[in-house]
Amino acid sequence: MFDLIIRNASLPDGRRNMDIGIAKGVITAVDQSISSEAGQILDAVENLVAPPFVDPHFHMDATLSLGMPRMNVSGTLLEGIALWGELRPTLTREALVQRGLRYCDLAVSKGLLAVRSHVDVSDPRLVTVEAMLELRDLVAPYLDLQLVAFPQDGYYRSPGAQASLVRALDMGVEIVGGIPHFERTMEEGRASVEALCRIAADRGLMVDMHCDETDDPMSRHVETLAAQTMRFGLQGRVAGSHLTSMHSMDNYYVSKLLPLMAESGMAAISNPLINMMLQGRHDTYPKRRGLTRIPQMIEAGIPVGLGQDCVMDPWYSMGTGDLLDVANMAVHASQMGSVADKTTLFDAVTVNSARILGLDGYGLEVGCNADLVILQARDPAEAIRLRPARLHVIRRGQIIAQTAPSLSVLNIPGRAGHVDPACFAPGQKFD
Ligand SMILES: [Zn+2]
Repeated sequence: MFDLIIRNASLPDGRRNMDIGIAKGVITAVDQSISSEAGQILDAVENLVAPPFVDPHFHMDATLSLGMPRMNVSGTLLEGIALWGELRPTLTREALVQRGLRYCDLAVSKGLLAVRSHVDVSDPRLVTVEAMLELRDLVAPYLDLQLVAFPQDGYYRSPGAQASLVRALDMGVEIVGGIPHFERTMEEGRASVEALCRIAADRGLMVDMHCDETDDPMSRHVETLAAQTMRFGLQGRVAGSHLTSMHSMDNYYVSKLLPLMAESGMAAISNPLINMMLQGRHDTYPKRRGLTRIPQMIEAGIPVGLGQDCVMDPWYSMGTGDLLDVANMAVHASQMGSVADKTTLFDAVTVNSARILGLDGYGLEVGCNADLVILQARDPAEAIRLRPARLHVIRRGQIIAQTAPSLSVLNIPGRAGHVDPACFAPGQKFD
């Protein structure tokens, strides 16, 4: 006896016409045909059923603050940081929680059920930390929110940041962050990576640093991060976020760096939307894309996750809460257009990111949490192309969000009828 059976599911690995049986919030069967009773039956009609989207890099404390106190005129990372610095003293716990709740509503509607958020610890009031811890508890029934202690203005550069970061960890923030490229000197950046990895090792925590978010090819803190990961025995617990300087690095140097990163067991988190918007700002033409080397990293065996970074904040005036927007941008900016590439990028916004976050019970196997998304698409490649409706979003076996399927009707003589969003002839295939 199941609480819920989803019939006729297409799975991300290519299996079709599969049934998924769910009992007590857990997946208890995945089979060609489950002939058992169920409290509820959902027909997926051969649509894609996937585990939920996971955003491995976000700023929940800044989201939806666009225009406060003014817009970012230059469009640069540095003006964004300055703007956030103006806004920070005016932040209140209540407003932060309310913005976070509104964003999480949007996220859930897009099938995004786990988010790693960096939390700025630069303001010694730590109102951001208090608010995000409250938000983490409020959304816990439907969204996993993981928090990183992030010294936005520099671990050494900002007075009091060292003490604030430790206080944030004591308060319950679970991951150590950093921003070595924003420290005053290369040497202080290097030292910050070492100090922050030591804190993580001493406390048994994970590390996720904003690392080399610059077009400067000599910004090489990722090398230090990989080396310190091994030195402190942090293999499998460290992520480098952004890594955009790698785009501009000398190819010979990268041929040494990639194996070092792979050896260290560190993960890479790229944020294609924001990188396309912020990087290359000092270029005239041609302009660099400023995206890290996603295909090369995947080839080298480095786990790659893709995040949003920002939605409607001082750094980015766009964003929808949809990780398929992120994957769609990665297809273009990294020139990964084959079906296999797109399937790999779908993994980067689902299973890879879940692994980076260390989520327990994530996936489509028997015994995993019954957290699922039914999309109005046939497979991962089509999902990235269409960014379709999330027909049902399921958490622990309960439907927590629904969206009506997209349906356009034509009124043209001779062409009257519905428009198939995928727009293929019946039976048309490609790979
Ligand atoms: Zn960020």
